Amino acid sequence: MYDLIIIGAGPAGLSMAAEARSAGIAADKLLVLEKGEAHSWSIRKFYPEKKLVEANYKGKPAICNGVMCIPDLSKDETLSYLDQAIADHQLDVRYGESVHGIERREDDGFDVRTGDSTYPCRVCVIAIGILGRPNKPDYKIPPAARSKVHFDVTSTVLEDQDVLVVGGGDSASEYAQYLVQCGNRVTLSYRRDSFDRMTQLNRESLRALEQREQVTILRGSNIESLSESDGRVTAHMVEPNIADVTFDHAVYALGGSTPQNFLREVGIEFEGKLPEVTAGYETNVKGLYLIGDLTPASGSIILAFNTSREAMKDICSSHLGCQIDPR
Ligand SMILES: Cc1cc2nc3c(=O)[nH]c(=O)nc-3n(C[C@H](O)[C@H](O)[C@H](O)COP(=O)(O)OP(=O)(O)OC[C@H]3O[C@@H](n4cnc5c(N)ncnc54)[C@H](O)[C@@H]3O)c2cc1C
Repeated sequence: MYDLIIIGAGPAGLSMAAEARSAGIAADKLLVLEKGEAHSWSIRKFYPEKKLVEANYKGKPAICNGVMCIPDLSKDETLSYLDQAIADHQLDVRYGESVHGIERREDDGFDVRTGDSTYPCRVCVIAIGILGRPNKPDYKIPPAARSKVHFDVTSTVLEDQDVLVVGGGDSASEYAQYLVQCGNRVTLSYRRDSFDRMTQLNRESLRALEQREQVTILRGSNIESLSESDGRVTAHMVEPNIADVTFDHAVYALGGSTPQNFLREVGIEFEGKLPEVTAGYETNVKGLYLIGDLTPASGSIILAFNTSREAMKDICSSHLGCQIDPR
């Protein structure tokens, strides 16, 4: 029986495991299950290669409360830092292990089910993030256009193409910057008139690209439908004064959403769209915790690290009787 099983090896799951080791949980009593073939699958898939990983992402203060912390880094440096955490804390991370269910055991722990195995544990922490299923537009993507429509910029290499980016947050700006660097001609469609949801750096970078005419920005534009013809796709706009845009590829940057079905199936209660958690990130199911992007407090790597610290304090005092390192 494991003391602690953590589901998801992103920044939240790995920092949770590092906190647990620092609090004295033995390496063979701790298991991390990751559905991807490597840790931090969301970072690998959704971050453009040359992205600056900002410590104060979305303007949230870069103050670390726990054992893990990052300054501004490149994507590779961020992944190396997380590699190092696995090595330093001797973490047992099993890859290709997608968790399908968590059941309460009669002796009060949990059975965590993956495709092939069932792992018993006393306490379970869910750290699966919100990017497993990126948000999709509410109009239909025609079957002939599906290979031209993407939800990240790493799965398909795009060079010297007409690309439409849809969205107005940090991801949309970073995708536009990256696609320009790769020699694409980029148009960005955003339904609002101003980019209030971006960091200052991303807003300024986007404005600079617009001024240099490397990105065309369609502010206040709402796509109504897509149609395909001769291998190119056209986005038809609701606004009569905004011309339709024909492109080779589109990249949607609409964020992700809480995997409600997964969480509801394990008995977690919701308040509106958000799962209910205590200040220590325990759910209504005793011994079952949520951390990282699944919690309202998160949205950045450092905030994910901090949720792990708070959850570990609670797990030590309420369940495992461990001693958290005072900092
Ligand atoms: C384009 C983009 C740019 C960003 N830039 C920054 C930035 O510059 N700085 C910053 O601080 N933050 C940034 N963020 C936000 C940051 O990436 C997230 O806040 C952070 O990754 C959240 O960590 P997490 O561990 O909660 O979730 P995730 O990073 O999403 O990790 C979840 C992990 O769980 C795994 N998983 C999912 N389902 C299962 C399952 N059923 N079983 C097992 N494993 C599972 C996934 O494969 C993944 O490895 C950015 C986000 C995006 C999308």
